[in-house]
Amino acid sequence: MMISDGFGPSGETMARVFANKAQLQPLDYQLRGASITYSTSNLVTDSAAGATCFSCALKTYNGAIGVTDSQPPEACATVLEAAAAAGMATGVVVTSRVTHATPAAFTAHVPDREMEPTIAEQQITQKIDLLFGGGRCEFQPQSVAGSCRADEKDVMSEARDAGFSVITDVAGLRSATTASLPLIGLFAQSHMAFELDRVPADQPSLDEMVAKALELLSALPKAATHGMFLMIEGSRIDHAGHNNDAAAHVYETLQFQQAFSQAVEYARGHGNTVVVSTSDHETGGLTLARTKPVLGRDTYPYVWYPKVLARANHSAEYLAHELQANASMSLVDTVVVNYGIEPTPAELATLEAARINGTTPLTYALSEFISYHANVGWTTHGHTGEDVNLYLYGPGTEAMYGVHQNSDIGAFLASKLKLDLAALTPEIRRKFPPIPMPPTARSEHAVHD
Ligand SMILES: [Zn+2]
Repeated sequence: MMISDGFGPSGETMARVFANKAQLQPLDYQLRGASITYSTSNLVTDSAAGATCFSCALKTYNGAIGVTDSQPPEACATVLEAAAAAGMATGVVVTSRVTHATPAAFTAHVPDREMEPTIAEQQITQKIDLLFGGGRCEFQPQSVAGSCRADEKDVMSEARDAGFSVITDVAGLRSATTASLPLIGLFAQSHMAFELDRVPADQPSLDEMVAKALELLSALPKAATHGMFLMIEGSRIDHAGHNNDAAAHVYETLQFQQAFSQAVEYARGHGNTVVVSTSDHETGGLTLARTKPVLGRDTYPYVWYPKVLARANHSAEYLAHELQANASMSLVDTVVVNYGIEPTPAELATLEAARINGTTPLTYALSEFISYHANVGWTTHGHTGEDVNLYLYGPGTEAMYGVHQNSDIGAFLASKLKLDLAALTPEIRRKFPPIPMPPTARSEHAVHD
């Protein structure tokens, strides 16, 4: 199962044209349908409800991590848990924190996605063979610099006590063997770097993590006898969408395409293997072309400029952090060096004002700068409610051609793996009894990632 978080049809077009407009991308070849994304609480879903559709095969409320929309919310057995219980090899590979909504929905059961410290504690009780991504901060006691926890729990050492190997760098990933399993790889303090910013010596790419995951899981004897389930998420397409950063977006998407291509190649070589790839929702309301005021009048140019995106050396988020951390760093020089465009006095004034307002306003302003010059439009810094593409490869996937509810995709996964989620749910509820909704939980109408 592959999830391109926050990736809509326009994102596919943007990345394809950016790479080569005349050539189809790996996902293009497997486009078979669409997924309807609304949740029980909102017409615009968040990633928690979106991923629980795939993991538990049911729609639930925004913010729900592997729990039902009931009072109180109750745990629902996930495809990953059922696969592990059936003796299969299981894994999760993401580029967000591993405790973030999408991976959490397969590996934890909490009423609110913000409960990431609890999610980390639950994950190390799971029978999972590998878990790769970012998010060391949720596994470190609060006394460690950069920890995200409000307690002294050392979940990393608890994971080791529970039998996991824990690695934190590229060298650890490259040298991992089946003897290292079960294995937790936490390659960044929080989310992993955008592909556009990634330093290969510091962090592996999604593609590299997927290669290792397939190598290790497929080498396990249980994979041959019982099969395997691997969830892969291109987590940060969503974050580029939230920032409205078209440059970061195309690089995240192209990286996801490579990982998808690899998954399809694996399936091609392993007979009875199915690859399902879809998004939980679209993020940003991306459009290719936008209204442009020229001398006080609106114009509607029928064009957008992929070459402008190709000039970007870093994501807007990275540049904003650098600029905020170094007060003496020149904004205009940074823009010229990293985007290859000389800002007008008015543009520079907007960027300077955003810099005073903080890192997020500056991230948004830099994203707007490059998107404007590329003539790429956005409607929101949140999610949108449109359908998303459904990509399928493998035997029996014809059953899912066409348009389907997102929860039907979870049901399809369970049926292909011959798993009975309902039968396992009572046991999962005993292991993960209901947790009261925390008072800090954001309302169901709040903005979620
Ligand atoms: Zn999001």
